[in-house]
Amino acid sequence: MRDARQLLADSARVVAMTGAGISAESGVPTFRGDGGLWRNYRPEDLATIGAFRRDPETVWEWYAWRRSFLATCEPNDGHRALARFFLQRGTAGLVTQNVDGLHTRAARDAAGEGAPHAALPVEMHGAIARDRCNDCGTRAEAEPLGDSLPRCATCGGLRRPDVVLFGEMLDPVVLDRAQSMAERADLCLVIGTSAVVYPAAAIPLATLHAGGRIIEVNTEDTALTGVAAVALRGPAGVVLPELLG
Ligand code: NAD
Ligand code: ZN
Repeated sequence: MRDARQLLADSARVVAMTGAGISAESGVPTFRGDGGLWRNYRPEDLATIGAFRRDPETVWEWYAWRRSFLATCEPNDGHRALARFFLQRGTAGLVTQNVDGLHTRAARDAAGEGAPHAALPVEMHGAIARDRCNDCGTRAEAEPLGDSLPRCATCGGLRRPDVVLFGEMLDPVVLDRAQSMAERADLCLVIGTSAVVYPAAAIPLATLHAGGRIIEVNTEDTALTGVAAVALRGPAGVVLPELLG
């Protein structure tokens, strides 16, 4: 922790990259941990574009379940520490693979009457709380799931949650933003991600290849541990308040 705090103090531009682990203490299941199961389906089999094309009803039911579940969750001390940190520092910023919206909620809470902008995340995999047309891409506010699946007001196409499904490309504009934030940072905090899902896993490497360092915060070793300058082992909700002060 002492080494990590020193590294942080010596860094001018800090980017943070978070994964499902940061929301674990808010009660949101990770995909690879326990508790992510719904009706005996594995998330990896439901969160795919193939599954959506084959069986949009089941995929929609699962997302409706995840939305109602997320409505009962709150940001935790890890989200809050990051929000305060980026509101104060205002440099580089936050990139997340999560679709749960908890960073955004923490940023708004921490900003109070002020502007949350500096602490709002670049959401590489989209936001579960929004809909998007599967045909024309028009975004729409989510509505409770009714008897028939939601349709696009513009073209009549089938709507879907505005998230990147396995088997799909990331939005190139969003990816480019995240990549250039990481390249310009001299420190990347990698928090609660198993760092196996590309291209998100390449973000910390962009900092590394540009000459920066990595601090990893995770309960376990990951594929990135070997290249991290410091690896802090523990739950993000405990480690981050200590690291970021
Ligand atoms: P993952 O499930 O592959 O890995 C989670 C990582 O978090 C693991 O390395 C685990 O050791 C670590 N972890 C668990 N609890 C922790 C804690 N309390 N503190 C710190 N670390 C902890 O998640 P991933 O790498 O984000 O990849 C899964 C994909 O699924 C992502 O693309 C993501 O978009 C999506 N997903 C999102 C959510 C969400 O929005 N909350 C939830 C599940 C999956
Ligand atoms: Zn449409």
